[in-house]
This record gives sequence, structure tokens and C-alpha cells, in this order.
Amino acid sequence: MGLIGAHVSIAGGIENAPNRGTLINANSIQIFTANQNQWFPKEPQKENYLKFKELMNLETPKLSVSHASYLLNMGSPDEKKLKMSRSAFLKELDRCDNLGINYVVFHPGSHMKTDETMCLKRIAESLNYCIENRPDLNVKILIENTAGQGTNVGYKFEHLKTILDNVDKNEKIGVCFDTQHGFASGFDIRTKKGWDSTFDEFDKIIGINNLKVFHVNDSKKECGSRVDRHASIGKGLLTLETFWCLVNDERFENLPMILETPDPTIYESEIELLKQLKGSKKP
Ligand SMILES: [Zn+2]
Ligand SMILES: [Zn+2]
Repeated sequence: MGLIGAHVSIAGGIENAPNRGTLINANSIQIFTANQNQWFPKEPQKENYLKFKELMNLETPKLSVSHASYLLNMGSPDEKKLKMSRSAFLKELDRCDNLGINYVVFHPGSHMKTDETMCLKRIAESLNYCIENRPDLNVKILIENTAGQGTNVGYKFEHLKTILDNVDKNEKIGVCFDTQHGFASGFDIRTKKGWDSTFDEFDKIIGINNLKVFHVNDSKKECGSRVDRHASIGKGLLTLETFWCLVNDERFENLPMILETPDPTIYESEIELLKQLKGSKKP
């Protein structure tokens, strides 16, 4: 089974996150390494980093994921915004390595009503720039599929493939698949048949080995709506069959499967539900 977990808060200090994972029986956690709404967030201190690493060894979660700030646009057509995004991403990578984080997930970017293909190329250039500037990088960078809201790119597997193909050191990068974004972008994963055809296509276009993390979210919006609205598991338009397929898919054994659903007070029961689906009869 995957390492089922959730996005947990860093309130009161980043070192509080691993125990928050333990309290909900999470086997992996995702965090923001700093305030995600600020370009220049307060940086954690050395003692925060050390404590976080120590506690990741003691608490229940085995793997850790960071979600980069939503402010970043690594494909921005605006020179100033692009520069700010790249330098903020470098700081994100530094925090991740200081924390011993396994994966950092980011939303590829938005073309802002300019050319989509150019935007994808700029995203790859941004990644090349960051990887060149951090030759000893440990954290693996994951491009997240998007719902395709507004001018966001990344809602087609071909987009993710274009980015991967244009990164020089592509052993440093991979992909995160968000079930809500996938559904909203048009992949009908409500049935086993739809699940299989989606990941066959993923394999054909991107290569299944590049898939490293799942975001596990139900959807408030229709298939193909291209709207990014998460729902709690079982309370949206996806089915229990979707999540049964996820936890019983042998290709995804041991991958972090992170809840980003709207109500953290029920994470524990959502995690329990997902664990019970493993090995059970298809709902
Ligand atoms: Zn995301
Ligand atoms: Zn989302």
C-alpha cells in the first residue's frame, strides 16, 4: 500500500509537523516549508531544521513532501515575476535540503494569455537554472498535474512530458498526480476502466516510473470542468472505486499519497477509510 498521509500544518514551528502526522496515523506528510502566501517568508532556523529531521526519524510518517508557494510562476512571460519565482524556488529547495525533505511539488505555471508552448519551455528553463545553481541538490522536484484553471499549464500529460524533455538533468525531476486535478482536466477516473486507461496513457506519454507522489482529493467539480476544487473523500463526484484503484494499484506501492481535502479535522478517518480499501472487495 502507498504511504497514506496528509498535508499538515507547520503552525508554531516546522518541527511540529511530524507529530501532527503521527496523530492522524499518517505514513507520509506534506508541508509548506514557509508561509506560502509571501514572497519573502520568515526562514526557519537551524534548530528548527535539526528538530524536524530528528522527529521525522521518530514519528510515524516515513516520507516528507513540500508544496512550493502558490505565488510562484516558473513559466511567467513577465521577466521580473520570472526572476522572483526562480529565486524563491531556490530558497524553497534550500529549505527542503535543510529539512531532509524527499520531494518538492510545484504547480508548473501560467502562460497569462501568452503562448502555451513557450510557457512550458520557460518552466523547463527555470528548472535548468535552479538545478544548475544547486549541483548538490538532494530533494527531488515534482511537477504537479493541474486542473487547467485559468491560464495554468500542466493539465495534459503532453505538457508534463514537454517540461521533462526540456530539462537537462531529468533524473532530478518527476511528476505528482492530483486525483482532483486529473478528473477536472478530463480524466474520468471514477471506474477501474477509466483508472487503467488514464495510467496507461500516463505510462505511454510520461513513463509510469516518473510518477512519485499522489495528491488524494475528491472533487467538487465535474470531469473536464477545469476547475480546482477539492472535496473530502466520499463527499465529491469521484467514487470509492477511484480510491480503491489508487490504494490497490501495485505500481504505486510505497508512494506518498497525500490528502489535501478541505477538512483537516477528519483526516484521521479519511486515512482510515483509505487503509481499509486496501485488499478489500472493489466497492
Ligand atoms: Zn498542488
Ligand atoms: Zn488542487
